[in-house]
Parts: sequence; structure tokens; C-alpha cells
Amino acid sequence: SASIEIAGVSKVYDGGVRAVDAVAMDIRQGEFFSLLGPSGCGKTTTLRMIAGFEMPSAGAIRVDGADITHVPAHKRDMGMVFQNYALFPHRTVAENVAFGLRMRGLDKASIAAKVKAALAMVELSGLEARRPAQLSGGQQQRVALARAIVIAPRVLLCDEPLGALDKKLRQQMQFELKQLQKKLGLTLVFVTHDQEEALAMSDRIAVMNGGRVEQVGTPAEIYNQPTTRFVADFIGDTNIFRGERIGPNLDVGKGLILALPPTEAQGIGVLSVALRPEKISLSPRSDTAITAGSSAHGTVENTNFLGGAVLYRITLEGGHRVLVQQPNAGTSRLFVPGNGVTLQWTPADLVVLK
Ligand code: ADP
Ligand code: MG
Repeated sequence: SASIEIAGVSKVYDGGVRAVDAVAMDIRQGEFFSLLGPSGCGKTTTLRMIAGFEMPSAGAIRVDGADITHVPAHKRDMGMVFQNYALFPHRTVAENVAFGLRMRGLDKASIAAKVKAALAMVELSGLEARRPAQLSGGQQQRVALARAIVIAPRVLLCDEPLGALDKKLRQQMQFELKQLQKKLGLTLVFVTHDQEEALAMSDRIAVMNGGRVEQVGTPAEIYNQPTTRFVADFIGDTNIFRGERIGPNLDVGKGLILALPPTEAQGIGVLSVALRPEKISLSPRSDTAITAGSSAHGTVENTNFLGGAVLYRITLEGGHRVLVQQPNAGTSRLFVPGNGVTLQWTPADLVVLK
């Protein structure tokens, strides 16, 4: 497998849509790398430029250091899997998987052996003679995957490949795809708009917004240290406060003062910070527990039972609305709407945003 370098790549479509805008990223050999962002942010366009189906308007794409920007798609040795599978409906499973090998002019015996191995890899042995319509959605997706890996691609490109599957099957396929990728040591570029999917599967994630890359990092970095407001907001639930620095504190209005993390205690001006809901602890309202800058009083507005955890929407005394998530420790410990509560957090858990 190969490394991929995307260097200052832009794509302006006919008609002037700037779909991708000066994107730069380095995808490492053997890495599960996701492009994550909302619909229309340029994920598919980026992937299609890596595949060679679209030409960049500017910039270069390198594979293992070699410039492939102008190499045609069929000479790039890349496998691609699409959301809609794109199988040939009138051909059997074996014929579908054999397609890329026949294009490459392999002899019959090696094609048969490779098809057999690829189908075993995706656990479809025995279904060689079926047609796509005789398979479930998950099985069709496995055929598409077998067809992509059978050519032993340098890179596997997947565009929302699990989007059409229901949740249970999707989670199973997430697990299997990740297993297969690690087993084969494949460099895999995975497009998704689903942040949970990206967090669960990726070695690293590029979060995209409006044709640009907002942040590249491991799932933990993206979640724990979002660098921009967009990333903090897009990944998971979060509380974002904007305010003015006053010494080591941030005045966010409505009577709420937040003590800044020790590393941020210097400086002036306006600042935005994020605080994850699970970084706030809740207790029954207590006036003795209040510490300026790291606690507040509020009232529970509503609760959202998540199973392993409970998400509370709370209105603070000054009017700020805050999300708080607590582990589900059993029914006797749950708060209900109308309860007065005290919120506490650690200033070091505030993340300063750009
Ligand atoms: P995503 O995959 O993240 O949803 P796309 O890469 O498909 O985003 O699209 C990015 C932007 O480019 C969108 O505004 C989309 O409408 C536009 N776009 C995509 N393909 C074309 C095309 N062939 N011609 C013109 N505009 C396009
Ligand atoms: Mg897309």
C-alpha cells in the first residue's frame, strides 16, 4: 500500500462552484483515513480527484512521492467502493468481482483463484453464482468491497460505503471493514458525513467544511482538542461560550464568569471556548459548593435518556442554556425537569477555539 500527499488542491467546477479550496493533507501508508464533514463540503470531489475521476484545478496529488496528478484513473492502481454499490445487475457475484482482473488481462486460472480468495476475505464463499438482486444489502456491499480489493490496490477509496445499511448491519460492517483494512495493511480513504462512524473507524480524520480542511487529527484529538468552532460543534455535543477576557477569566455575559485554563491565563480580547457535556458534573443544588469560575446553579429543563448515560438540558440562573451528560448510575440518581442543580467543572477542561 501507499502514502498519499494532497498538496494545495482546489477544484472549481464549470459554472464556478469552488468545491475544494486549497486542501492539503498527508495520508500515511496503511492508514485508515476519513474525510468527514456535512453534505456538500467537498468530500466526494476530493476522493474523485485522488481516484483520477476529476482533475484538480490547482495543486498536486502524489502517491509514494510520485506526482500522479495527470495519470489516468485506470493506471492509478486504486480500488473504489461507492454508496450505491454500482454492481453489474446482470452479472453473477463472481463475474462482478472478476471485472477488474479481466480488464487487466489476467488468465482464467489466476482470475478464478483471486476471485475465490477475495470472496473468502469478505465471507461470501459459496455465493459466486448469485446475481446482485439475490443478495441482501450487506452482501451486495461485500461484493463491491471484494471487487475493489481483488486487484490488490495500492489504495482503497470508499465513498459513504455503508450509508445504505441499517444501523446494526452498519456497525458490523464498520468492524469488518476495519479488520480487513488492518489485515491487508491497506491505505484506506473513507468518506462519511457520520461523525460517530468516523470516530469509531479512523486512525486519523480530516474534518472538512466549505471545501476546506478545518482540522486533521486522531479521533481523540478531534474530539478532545477541537481547534475551531466548526469542529467543536460538528463532532459530538458541546457547549460553546463566547466572551471577553478579564484577567484569568472569561466574562460570557448574563452573570457567568468562566475561569480559563491555566495555559490561557494571559491575554486580552474576545475568545470562544468549548466544554463537553460529560466534563460537567451535576449535584442537587447546594449553595456551599459554589466556586467562582468553575461552578453555577441552574434548573433542569429536560432530560434525554441515552441508555448508558443521560443528557440534561439545563438553564443557568443567568439564562445560559447548557448541556450536561452524566453516566447512568441507576434510576434513583436521575434528575427530572424542574430540579435545582449545581454544575461544576474543571477550568483545564475548557478548550479554546480559533
Ligand atoms: P460532499 O461529497 O461532501 O457532499 P461534493 O464533493 O459532492 O460534496 O460537492 C461539493 C460541492 O461541489 C457542492 O456544492 C456540490 O454541489 C458541487 N458539485 C459536486 N459535483 C459537481 C459537478 N459535477 N458540477 C458542479 N458542481 C458540483
Ligand atoms: Mg459525497
